[in-house]
Amino acid sequence: MNLTDKVEDTFRLLSPQKKALAKLGIETVADVLFHFPHRYGENFEQATIAELDFGKKVTIYGRLKSLDTGKTFRGRRPIAKATISDDNGSAKLIWFSQPYIAKMFHEGELVRIEGTVSKKKSGDLFSIPNPQIERVQNIPEIGEKNSLFSNVSTAESGALPLHPIYSESHGITSNWFFHAVSKILKSGVLEKIKDPIPPEILQKYNLPSLKTSLIWIHAPKRLADAISARKRFAFEEIFYIQLQKQKQRTEIKKSKAFKIPTGADEVKTFTDKYPFDLTSAQEKAIATILADLKRDFPMSRLLEGDVGSGKTAVAAAAVYAVIKCAPKGRSSGRLQVAYMVPTEILAKQHFENFVRYFVGSGIQVGLITGSACYKFPSKIKPREATKISRSQLAKWVENGEIPIVVGTHALISKSVKFKHLGLVIIDEQHRFGTRQRKNLAQKDEATPHLLSMTATPIPRTLSLTVYGDLDLTLLDQMPAGRKPIITEIVLPNEREKVYQKIHKEIKSGRQAFIICPRIEEPDSTKIGALYAKSVKAEAKRLREKVFPDLEIAEIHGKMKPADKEKVMKDFENGEIDVLVSTSVVEVGVNVPNATIIVIEGAERFGLAQLHQLRGRVWRSNYQSYCFIFTDSPKPDSIKRLRAIQTAKNGFELAELDLQIRGAGELTGAKQWGISDVGMEAIKNVKMVEAAQKEAQEIIEKDPELKSAPELAKEISERDKIHFE
Ligand code: ADP
Ligand code: MG
Repeated sequence: MNLTDKVEDTFRLLSPQKKALAKLGIETVADVLFHFPHRYGENFEQATIAELDFGKKVTIYGRLKSLDTGKTFRGRRPIAKATISDDNGSAKLIWFSQPYIAKMFHEGELVRIEGTVSKKKSGDLFSIPNPQIERVQNIPEIGEKNSLFSNVSTAESGALPLHPIYSESHGITSNWFFHAVSKILKSGVLEKIKDPIPPEILQKYNLPSLKTSLIWIHAPKRLADAISARKRFAFEEIFYIQLQKQKQRTEIKKSKAFKIPTGADEVKTFTDKYPFDLTSAQEKAIATILADLKRDFPMSRLLEGDVGSGKTAVAAAAVYAVIKCAPKGRSSGRLQVAYMVPTEILAKQHFENFVRYFVGSGIQVGLITGSACYKFPSKIKPREATKISRSQLAKWVENGEIPIVVGTHALISKSVKFKHLGLVIIDEQHRFGTRQRKNLAQKDEATPHLLSMTATPIPRTLSLTVYGDLDLTLLDQMPAGRKPIITEIVLPNEREKVYQKIHKEIKSGRQAFIICPRIEEPDSTKIGALYAKSVKAEAKRLREKVFPDLEIAEIHGKMKPADKEKVMKDFENGEIDVLVSTSVVEVGVNVPNATIIVIEGAERFGLAQLHQLRGRVWRSNYQSYCFIFTDSPKPDSIKRLRAIQTAKNGFELAELDLQIRGAGELTGAKQWGISDVGMEAIKNVKMVEAAQKEAQEIIEKDPELKSAPELAKEISERDKIHFE
């Protein structure tokens, strides 16, 4: 057996298993080996059903029957129930508040059950409440399951390995992985694995080798071994990412840049035109950027700041500094700027902003989105923009006539090339690699400067990792004169009172957002979906029962872009009083007259995410309100929600979230391209700092990783995945 062998050539697979593995991205033997268990069975004594006894902790195998859902007698809590039988007898299984379990399994399926036998019988059968359940392919003989790994040698001997449990996906069971992994471990293929991490580093941080880690994570004899192995894989992941980022950093430092000599005084003549005074945080950020732009190598900076902290004003100053410059060796013409934002609506808003700044200056501005292209000024009406074809716009960008181009992702599509691209600005888009940055520019041209911006509050350890190639600047100050938002945590019995308050505000001219966790009616068979409010049902209820005299509209991610745009326009124009929305749409949209946000089912959101939602109504000098509705009046969750009233900014809340909820629950943790194991490292400041330090030292000494071919291979494979 080889690590690169295909799974279908190594194991006999049924077609649903093939599909399931493909869906999990598992193609090779190595992929199976790197699919880790998510927990370990407690290795309770394996018993036959006849051996059950009151209060005993057991693992039993058997066939499921009489699967059903129901309600508890008194509390009306939803439940799932079933009977399990083996050759010796039957027992009852019951799951409280998890009715979906009855739908996840089928009559007659073989399962492994792990739990504690109840102190009371149910009828004349023993019963096991809330047991762990997993599908199996056969019922092992007692003792057999532990012998599967018997010829795997580990540092210790004697104890039996813990039972690994892998997350299930439709078509493939935990037990399939258990057997597949045991076959792989027995095959001796581990002997062929080379550990890419230098032994000095493993020793320094007391981490097990790759081979030992693979054994310990799948077949640990003690939980401590499994934890050591996970620690190694967590370190490994962050270390590899850091190597990648540090490598990109050195590459950028070696590349040519446009030196931008524009002075602070000159930029000030531009920022003086803003209808407000810059905060000192904004001034400092602009000074830092101007210093970056003067160096020999291109800027790579991330500007982090809460929604509403005024990042656009900083970015516009950078735009101005760059377009004031002529390309090298020329007395006329301008360097160009590409300004990329995540949605069409935001692109339009930014475009209109620039038009306002540059009206009458002779500077042209372009807008590129998937649905339309515009150019300012129009030939006929010098104070207005005009719609043009994409190819026409692309031509003017390519010959350098249009210095400022705002756009969505369409901007980096192949059809657009810049003549002298001096600066790329990316608003809220973390997947933008060095290669993409170079692709926008002409070959042989200097590498453009990069200013990336984010309002997504993430913990410092996560930003050190995912933005390891960037220098960080924090805009940690809100513009003056903005009234603090009034944030209230609203319990179910206070709903009416709050609706009256909202009604009064709207009648005096303001507008409101109502955020629901879901789009459609909840599906009661899904985990945790039971009580989540949906956009559609809530909009209907508000229209009919709560605010019959107000104009109520809905918006969510499943609507067509044109429909969404129409709703947003109507909302901006004040034709809609209340916009019912999911949390994912149009973050960052600027509707200063919307001063109220209601967040339904707030206990489902992370603190940082709640804070970000709140930021949507923090945009004017009217008093703003954020009403956090929770249906879960548990003291713990109330306490957690209270943090939102006291924390200073989103980044502080992100740290709190990380501590309270854990890395796996960070908002969109997956979107950072870090695995669950890797996210464990994110919780560990020391580990992230160590990974960064080691990566920096290695790259400094050996930027091409010539002395560590295994590491070089690992990193280049990761690069490939990232830029697909
Ligand atoms: P974000 O950081 O979320 O991108 P924006 O740049 O959109 O924030 O700014 C939010 C609002 O605050 C805008 O209406 C902008 O004009 C205004 N603004 C920005 N800086 C200041 C300032 N220093 N004083 C007052 N208002 C400001
Ligand atoms: Mg913004």
